[in-house]
Amino acid sequence: MSAAADEVQIVEVSARDGLQNDPAVLATADKLELIRRTLGAGLRRQEVASFVNPARVPRMADAEDVVAGLAGDAERDAWSLIGLVLNTRGFERAARTRIDEVNLVVAASDAFSERNQGMSVDAAIRYALEVAPLARAAGLVATVTVSTSYGCPFEGEVPVGRLVSIAERLAAGGVDEIAIADTIGVAVPADVRERTAAVRAVTGEVRLRAHFHNTRNTGYANALAAYEAGVHVLDSSLGGIGGCPFAPRATGNIATEDLVYLLERSGVRTGVDLDALIAASEWLGGLLGRPTPSLVSKAGGFPSGAAA
Ligand code: ZN
Repeated sequence: MSAAADEVQIVEVSARDGLQNDPAVLATADKLELIRRTLGAGLRRQEVASFVNPARVPRMADAEDVVAGLAGDAERDAWSLIGLVLNTRGFERAARTRIDEVNLVVAASDAFSERNQGMSVDAAIRYALEVAPLARAAGLVATVTVSTSYGCPFEGEVPVGRLVSIAERLAAGGVDEIAIADTIGVAVPADVRERTAAVRAVTGEVRLRAHFHNTRNTGYANALAAYEAGVHVLDSSLGGIGGCPFAPRATGNIATEDLVYLLERSGVRTGVDLDALIAASEWLGGLLGRPTPSLVSKAGGFPSGAAA
């Protein structure tokens, strides 16, 4: 699943990052409907579940049921479904399901890592480098997301050198993909250019991916900066919903429909049906009991010129 120079592969994360901190609690059947609607719009690679301790993240307690619920769909083989895994135990759960990929997490700050995963950054790197080969041996794609790559809610600025040394160790350990994540939405495009180039310099052929939150309204500019820096896999969430239970005041992911509009109007193909996304975003707003934060879902796509 690689992308050409004028293409971006969007990884849809609404069912996981989007919902895990939402005030609304969705039934498994509603999650499945969300996933099917976005898959139907062309978002074939999705993070759909989190194999974390249900006591810590109750909204993700149905991970196994979500994956099983999609197993019989006619198009299932065309999809790549991702499960978030924060420790070895989580991987063992994920490996018993029909998940296609695991997303492992290494934070770039110890304070965040301790709160999010109950381990130091060093311990998280060791778990990632232990689980990634197991995942690959089981036929699963292994991504490592480096969270708080730009800044940490508890420690502030994350030094570029620390991010680079983490990425270097991960790449040397043989992961398929490294996602550079602005978990708390502090980055600006100059940061994205600097850090992407610095990471690229030490990660060789490992595919890079980027994950932005629009907390300070810089998420879309950052996504475009990442694309222009050569990152052709971008995460986003339908409607721009999302947060993180362990990152105070972290707000939504960049919205998939806004990202698709931005990219497609810039001549970058996404393979996603914008009208279907807008309809799905409106449906999701109804389900959550409030309009989603995205703007394209309210304004619509580029005017057709047909209006009198
Ligand atoms: Zn996120």
